[in-house]
Amino acid sequence: MKKLFENPTKVFALTKEETRRLYDNLYNEMIEEGKDVVDYQKLKAMSTGVLCPDCNSSHVIKNGLQSGVQNYRCKNCGRQFRVTTGTFMYGVHEKGKMLEYIKCMSAGMSLRECARIVHISLTTSFFWRHRILCAMQSFEDNVNFFGIVELEELLMNYSEKGKKKREKKGIKNLTKKKPTKVAVLAATDRSGNILFKKLEDKRVQADHISDFLKSRISKDSIVCGSNKKAFKTVNAEHIKHKEITNKNKMKGGIYSVLTVHEKITDFVGWIYFKFRGVATKYLTNYIMWFVIKGKYLADRIIEDTGRMLNLAASDRGAWERYKNLMSLTYVIYNI
Ligand SMILES: [Zn+2]
Repeated sequence: MKKLFENPTKVFALTKEETRRLYDNLYNEMIEEGKDVVDYQKLKAMSTGVLCPDCNSSHVIKNGLQSGVQNYRCKNCGRQFRVTTGTFMYGVHEKGKMLEYIKCMSAGMSLRECARIVHISLTTSFFWRHRILCAMQSFEDNVNFFGIVELEELLMNYSEKGKKKREKKGIKNLTKKKPTKVAVLAATDRSGNILFKKLEDKRVQADHISDFLKSRISKDSIVCGSNKKAFKTVNAEHIKHKEITNKNKMKGGIYSVLTVHEKITDFVGWIYFKFRGVATKYLTNYIMWFVIKGKYLADRIIEDTGRMLNLAASDRGAWERYKNLMSLTYVIYNI
């Protein structure tokens, strides 16, 4: 591919396999052409269309340049915006450093290492990690399960890791009783599809399972759950076949929850050994990082940088999600 950013129409005519190769080489291409995440966001807007971040209308006109950046105006609601509005890079001053930051994340570096290499503060490093992870959340919509689907409940310790003492004191009076555990519903099939979901509850309930599987499984899927009450009692029209098995058993030589248990062990190890635990508030972000690592990334730094950037750039709701997450107090976990 010659000069990716100069020939966008050529990019849009690529086959699926060529597009994948393009993402895998995206980082090198961007470095070679001297482009940054904003340039990529512009390219992305050409394939997805420019939509109003407020009302989602496509009735949008160009509205002059501001500091050399294209401005748009929505003819429906009057909102003025840029292609970066609402994305993970919205409001960041040093956008030029974000590509390198994603590369450091792909390399599995700690917040401190990322900060040192990209020349940003440790606090900024933390914020950027969550900006990018918030932009990964919509990947959830791409996960579907086929054949035998294994389900299990994972109970994580409730954590307020990283919270300042001053903040804790203020919150204390507001909360009744803090939970000790937070439930995560873990699911995997046997062809590599995986999704974990943190619930606003201390146990997995039958309703959670039913909602979670709706629109994600086909009618010939066989759902395998462990012998906990929620799995035993779940009953929904979209769950046609169900098998309950003991945690360590293989029923009829086929049905088990052994695969999902392996994934849970990997996930818990990753959270506790790599990050030394994460605050419950940020658990959803880390969950999706784990899911993407297992399903979308290649475990190779250059390839994963391009893939992560492409995924992040596809999400126009990232900033909103990030803003809400950062303003979230722990009071919400009054479960
Ligand atoms: Zn609008």
